[in-house]
Amino acid sequence: MADTTMDKLVSLCKRRGFIFQSSEIYGGLSGAWDYGPLGVQLKNNIRDFWWKEMTQMHDNIVGLDASILMHPRVWEASGHVSNFTDPMVDCKQCKSRFRSDQIDLEAACPNCGTKGSFTEPRNFNLMFSTHIGPVHDDGSVVYLRPETAQGIYVDFKNVVQSSRVKVPFGIAQVGKSFRNEITTKNFIFRSCEFEQMEMQYFCKPGSDEQWFSFWRDQRMAFYHKMGIKPESLRWHRHGEDELAFYAKDAYDIQFHFHPAIAPVTVAVLPLVKKDGIGEFAENLEHELREDFATFYDQSGAIGRRYRRMDEIGTPYCVTVDYQTLEDKTVTLRFRDSMEQVRVPIVDLVSRIRTETRQYKRA
Ligand SMILES: [Zn+2]
Repeated sequence: MADTTMDKLVSLCKRRGFIFQSSEIYGGLSGAWDYGPLGVQLKNNIRDFWWKEMTQMHDNIVGLDASILMHPRVWEASGHVSNFTDPMVDCKQCKSRFRSDQIDLEAACPNCGTKGSFTEPRNFNLMFSTHIGPVHDDGSVVYLRPETAQGIYVDFKNVVQSSRVKVPFGIAQVGKSFRNEITTKNFIFRSCEFEQMEMQYFCKPGSDEQWFSFWRDQRMAFYHKMGIKPESLRWHRHGEDELAFYAKDAYDIQFHFHPAIAPVTVAVLPLVKKDGIGEFAENLEHELREDFATFYDQSGAIGRRYRRMDEIGTPYCVTVDYQTLEDKTVTLRFRDSMEQVRVPIVDLVSRIRTETRQYKRA
């Protein structure tokens, strides 16, 4: 993605209250981001939709919420202590640190320009470590989990013994993970603290390829259901150099992103504030709150308010005008087509519900 596009995206996210830099007033903490009022709503909507699709819609997937801190032997057994590393070099002159596979070790330091200033590459573990209890010795070291999957593996036996599941079945989990990333310049695409949604599916040896293919189809269908256009999505198969140390095969779904699950479903906008129209619109917005995530906006020209709603991904705008006071109808405007239709207020909730269902299916 071009830098200008990324800069525009970061600034839009900040201006509209989606994502802020962590600790910004103290100069910011790199690799950490805060979700603002609209961002947290969007994030929660995606999480809830994923959780429902996984646990409620499949009768052989159960949920789990494991702790972030685990016994250090978990990470020895998983191979993370010895293998979860990036090869790093330091510049002896300016002390900058680089991934040795991402720079030319024969060339000058990209930061200070000194030649021949790099140390020998050494492995740098990506796990954050801390200590449990008051004594900081080797025996008290614990790690902040670098992925949620290990909690699922370690609790596997407890889940099997306490629920009705039998192989093949899955365990789903949502939670924070932490990685001590050196290159954190790429906005929320590479951060030190992030939230993961993971489902581990357990199957009999020999049936793995069949299930892998089943779940590939399911995952793609999930994004289509979320409202992302199929032509915006594509598969990327991991090459040998990209595969995680424990993986046999892996695919990413890549996409041009698009606010598909809107933090605001319906915006209610009075054409003008005067003559009771503002008041009427505000009451209508309060009524719609029962059914949808709503937003009321009466400031500025109507065209600007529509664009403001388009920018944060609001799929429906309802406009109240003089005609509304006479015949109890409103204008319903669609984000994607910008089409406007006149709808009786009594039919508004069911109309929006129908439109949303069709949008998901399309
Ligand atoms: Zn340097």
